[in-house]
Formats: sequence, structure tokens, C-alpha cells
Amino acid sequence: MLIAQVIVELSLDRKFDYLVPESLAEKVRPGVYVEIPFGNSSRTGCVLSVVQTERYNGSFALKTLRGIKSNSPQLPEKLLQLGSWMADYYCCSYEQAVKALLPGAVRRGRQNNGKRRYTITTQEAVDEFIRHNNDKKSAAKRIAVLQALLRQDDLTADEIELACGAGASVVKALVDMQLLKVSSVDPSKQRRRQLTAEQTADTARIPTDEQAAALQGIYDLIDHPEAATRTGLLFGVTGSGKTEVYLQSIAHALEKNQSAIVLVPEISLTPQTVRRFRARFGNLLAVLHSRLTDAERRGEWQKIYENKVRIVVGARSALFAPLTNLGLIVVDEEHENSYKQSEAPRYSARDVAVMRGKLENAVVLLGSATPSLETYYNALNGKYKLWKLTHRAEDSPLPEVKVVDLALARENARQNGENASTLFTPELIAAVKERLRLKEQVILFLNRRGFARELGCPNEECTFIAECPDCSKPYIYHKSRRMLSCGLCGRVEPVPEHCPQCGEDMLKTRGVGTERIEETARRLFGYARIARMDSDTMRGADSHEITLEKFRRGELDILIGTQMIAKGLDFPNVTLVGVINADSGLNIPDVRSSERTFQLLTQVAGRAGRGDKHGQVIIQTYSPYNDVIRYAVAQDFPAFYEYDAAVREILNYPPFGHMIALYAKSSSESDCAEVINAVFEQAKKYCHESVIAVDPAPAPLARIKGKYRYIATFRGEKITSVRKALRHLVLHEVWKSSVELYLDMDAQTLC
Ligand code: ADP
Ligand code: ZN
Repeated sequence: MLIAQVIVELSLDRKFDYLVPESLAEKVRPGVYVEIPFGNSSRTGCVLSVVQTERYNGSFALKTLRGIKSNSPQLPEKLLQLGSWMADYYCCSYEQAVKALLPGAVRRGRQNNGKRRYTITTQEAVDEFIRHNNDKKSAAKRIAVLQALLRQDDLTADEIELACGAGASVVKALVDMQLLKVSSVDPSKQRRRQLTAEQTADTARIPTDEQAAALQGIYDLIDHPEAATRTGLLFGVTGSGKTEVYLQSIAHALEKNQSAIVLVPEISLTPQTVRRFRARFGNLLAVLHSRLTDAERRGEWQKIYENKVRIVVGARSALFAPLTNLGLIVVDEEHENSYKQSEAPRYSARDVAVMRGKLENAVVLLGSATPSLETYYNALNGKYKLWKLTHRAEDSPLPEVKVVDLALARENARQNGENASTLFTPELIAAVKERLRLKEQVILFLNRRGFARELGCPNEECTFIAECPDCSKPYIYHKSRRMLSCGLCGRVEPVPEHCPQCGEDMLKTRGVGTERIEETARRLFGYARIARMDSDTMRGADSHEITLEKFRRGELDILIGTQMIAKGLDFPNVTLVGVINADSGLNIPDVRSSERTFQLLTQVAGRAGRGDKHGQVIIQTYSPYNDVIRYAVAQDFPAFYEYDAAVREILNYPPFGHMIALYAKSSSESDCAEVINAVFEQAKKYCHESVIAVDPAPAPLARIKGKYRYIATFRGEKITSVRKALRHLVLHEVWKSSVELYLDMDAQTLC
């Protein structure tokens, strides 16, 4: 008698037993998708395991499987095990974890194919429409659709209906008004791009001594599958040739008939990176990035599944590529935040990579110029191997970093009777001009988009600040669009003509964003060719690539942007990087704010002087003596680590303990507080005495999209039992239905 344990595509966190009919005995295996009777209907499920049992005596009625789902792939067993581990460790349901193993496009099959996708025609037209109709009830549906599409590149009519409940007639009306159009993916263009990429071939460089040492260590691990420690950190300064080490390590794994996965942050999945891999490995490579259409994604996945490619490069979810005989997993920029998924399963791709490595006995190589504290801690402790690259590969020296005190600059300007601008100090202006004169390129960085952080009333008796009605955060002000936008929910609204509270005519901005930097730069360096890159300007599928390509070809002199430009870019002609204000991330009350600031400053600085010309970095700050900024200026990661680790050790924060966050969300604040308090009290009973439990309180983002949010945290070395208790309380106990609960294991931000 064969019994299959099946999970259904509902988040029940339960396995159901079904009898396997004789005719299917051969085909029903773990990882296979099957049709099952469920209640009064039929559903699809995934087989987790199959057990042979003699003892079944027919006294309880088991239902029988209906059949195998047609055309469905089979998940490899090791991946299923990984899914189970994720469900348990990251405290989500089995269904959610298993779902993450397959791309949506593959899971859904062909049904979405050929459906029209809609996109906005121009942002100007849409903004104009919203400005004129914002107060009209009759336009609410149409505005909701436009807002959804301001946030996403394109959506199908079904997706639009799901997102904002607007039917086909609303979409049609918007198309007739020329606000929406059918988005076109031009297949010939796509093909051309791939062809040009394949033409250039590339061969391995002769490794530097440091690269050679790292490679020897990695080859050793690949050649000796019995070696116990199979994870290593490649700690190499920016431009030290980490990518070259990845490439040669992969080549070595291929020689052993093994396959490899390379994870990179989505943001650095640029044509430039892809080109380097493609040039080395040609058709053995599959690339998974977020701009693939469903059909393309299915195609790539099928190639992997059928063993036609041996290397997969992609963002977070590429980790689940069903490669056989996996020998090597590379996680580039392992410290990156984007490896943590923000919805369930809330996994860290870096940590799951280490787990997949364990399950498949593959080597895991984590690379970074600014490792996470967790990884560096493991490397220092010998849990991971450690290889260092301390020099740049082409022997161009690291850039010279200079700090400019903004407070002092302001004071000097005041004494000279000048109108003090704290955006561009005289030092920065002079440096930019010099680079322009030499026909070299400049990157200016500020990690805040929009024109200003907020818009408020200057009148002292008035307290008005333009705020999103649904979220607890001020609106970002966009000057040229004459719009306000919410950084949390994406809602946009026209700028009010005068203060809605006191009638004051001129509203005042506070805090600068990249749009303001662009405006000022155009005034100061009018003759330069300038572009801005942030999530406001980079809408549309290719705008990112186009701007970077122009910059590479030297058709732009100055590139201004947010963290979008901080990472992974390699432009030999960039000789100056200016950080407009280094302090913006420092004052956030989060245990990781120092680490993030250090990483960001090091990464942006690393964009300068990558060619044979010497690079220069200017960091403007109000706190030149701040420890984090001093270590970043000295480009001294080990010193920064000592400093930050000391603080965290006292407080039991990662890497010295784990941390799990419990969140509650509800449109009723009292329900929210009541439920989270009840769960918290129950969970506390399972805390080891060394665990620090922080009482529930409103979350830092206290309200998003009209929902109140509360948070409680548990941290310490021994949190397994409280994690298990919390998982049960959240997934299986019944609380007020108005409250949504979820857990974030190894939370990266508390927000
Ligand atoms: P990282 O990934 O550490 O930022 P890259 O791998 O991008 O560094 O290397 C920086 C530059 O140095 C690239 O242009 C690369 O082609 C070059 N490079 C890397 N290794 C070598 C080598 N052994 N010999 C010559 N050039 C190298
Ligand atoms: Zn909002």
C-alpha cells in the first residue's frame, strides 16, 4: 500500500495523506505535482514524501490521488528538503516555502501566456490627470489603476483587477484617454541583445598572488568532498578581482562535471556583469533576472531542468535552480540586504545557500569588500575559510578619500556673507570642475530620492507637514513633477497650492533628495552632460541599461543617484566620487545602521579610480569625527568590525545571538496591541533565561496602507525553543481574525 503525503496550495501548514493508485505507483515521487480530491473539489498539491505501509487496514477512509498534473516539473528531493528546512527555520507554512522553490511562471504553467500587459504612456500625462481629478470620487478607480502602474512597469488586466478592483471597462477608458497603452516586448530586440553579447569571447587572466592563493584553497575544497568546512569568505577590496576568482572557480567545478550557481544582488545584474559571465561560459549559462517575461523565464528554467546549462547566474531566487550535481554556489556581495526576502518565506538567500551547500555537499563561496558581521565572525572563528584580496587586481591604488566638514563649510560661507549652500561645498565644486576639465567622469551619491524629504508649512504656529493619509510618514516632494509621493505605499498626490491648515502661501521643503542635487548640479556645471538614476527616473524596462551604457560610452559626464549607482559598477574613466551627505543613514535607531553606512560609503568610494587613472573620493558630513565615518574614510573594515562587534556583543545582537521579530498588523490598533501582547506572553514561557525579550510596541513604521503595526523581538544565543513556540502560536493558534501575525527570523531591519 503506497501513501503519499501531499501539501495543497493553501497556506495550511499541513500535510495530507492520499492513497496512490497502483497505476501511478511508478510516477508518484517526492516533488511531483498531483491532482487530489479536496473537500468537494479538486486541487493541485505537491508530494512531499511517499511511504510504503502494510498496516493500513482500511478502517479509516483515505482518499485516492486523481492523477499527475500534466506538464508539471518534478522538484529534486534535495530542494524539497531545503524547502522543509526553510518552512521550519523561517517560520512560514510548508506551502509558502515550497512555493518559493519554483518560479511563479513555471508553477502557473502556460496560462498567463499571450495576455496583454498594460503600462502607462508617460508619467507627465498620468501626473497631469491625477492633479486634475484627485478630488473627484468618480475618478477614484482610474487613479487607483494609474497609481498601481506608477509602482510597477506593467500589469495584465487580471493583475490590475486583483490590485485595485478595477475591471476591464476602467482599463479601456484609460487606454482611450491615452493614459495607458499595451506594453510591448519586442522579441527581435531581445534576440539581438543576446547575439551581440555572445560574440565576445574571453579567457582567464593570470591570477595575482592573492588570487592564486584563494583559488588554490577553493580548488582544494572542490577536489576534496570529504573536507568538513565547505564554506569560505572571499574578502577582497573593491576591484581586487573577486569576479575573476569566481569565474576560475566555476571553470574548475565544470571540469569536475559539476554545476554552479552565482547569486548577485538584482541591482548588479547589469549587462556588464552578465557579459563577463557570458564571455567566459557562453551557452553553458542561464541568466535569471527580474525583467524576463514569463515565457522567457519558463524557457530558462526548462533549460536548467533539462541539464542543458550548467551555470545559473541570478538574483535571490536563482538559488533554487534545479541543477544536478551542484558543486559550487557563489554569493557575490554577500552582505547585501536584498538577499533577505521581505515577504514569506522571509529567507536570507545567503544563509539558505550555506544550507543548500550542506545538503548537496557543495562548496559555498561568499564574496564581499564589506562582509556582514555574521559572515566575518564565522570566518574569524574558523567556521568558514577566509581568503583575502588586499590589492586591486590591476594595481591601481585604492582611491584617496577626503572628508569635508559641512558645518565648517556652512560657517565659512556665512562669514563671507555668501548664501550658504550645504549641498556642494567649495571643495566638491572645485574637484568636479577639475575632473570635467580633464574630461573624466564623476559620480555624485545621495541616498534619498525626490527633491526634498518633506514639505511643510513655514508658519511657526502651524504644524502642517504633508503626510500620506494611510501611512505614518511624510510625503516625498517631487518638484518637476509637482507631485508628492509616499515612500511606503507609493500613493501620489498633487502638491497643495497653499497650506491646508493655515492658508500660508509658500510651503517649505526640508531635507534634500537627488532631484535637488541634479537641479543644483545643472546650475553649477551648466556645460556638463548630467543624468540622474534613481527609482523615480528609472521607470521602464530598459532605462537603467540605457543610462549606464551612455555613461560607459562617455556620453555623460556626471551621474547622480541613490544606492542604485553605489554598487558593482566598473567604469574606468570615473575618477571622482562625491558623497553629498554621509550622515543620512547614521541616525536611524537600528542596530545595523552603522554597518549599513560603512558598507555604503565603502562601496560608493570603490567606484572611483578603477582604471589606470587615480581616483578621488569626497565625503561631505556633519560628523567628521564619527567612528563609522572615520573607519570608512580609512577603508579599514577590520577596525570597523572590532568597533561594531563590541557594541553588539554587549547587547546580545547578531552575530552573537539570533534575533526573531514578531509583527502584528491590523486596521484596529487596539486589536493589534491585544493580540501581540497575548502571543508575546505565551511565547515568553519558552524563552531560555539568556534570551532578551523586548515588549510589544508600535513598530518604527507605525502605520502602512491604513494598517497599524506592532512589533516585539526576541534575541539571544538560544532562541530555538522560543522560535518553535512562536511558529506554532502564529501559524496554528487562532487569534482575532482582524489581526495578521507574522515572524521574521534573523530580521535585517526592524521596521
Ligand atoms: P571585484 O569583483 O573584486 O570588484 P573585478 O573582478 O571586477 O573586481 O576586477 C576588477 C578589474 O580587474 C576588472 O577589470 C578585471 O578584469 C581586472 N582583473 C581581475 N583580475 C585580474 C588579473 N589577475 N589580471 C589582470 N586583470 C585582472
Ligand atoms: Zn502611504
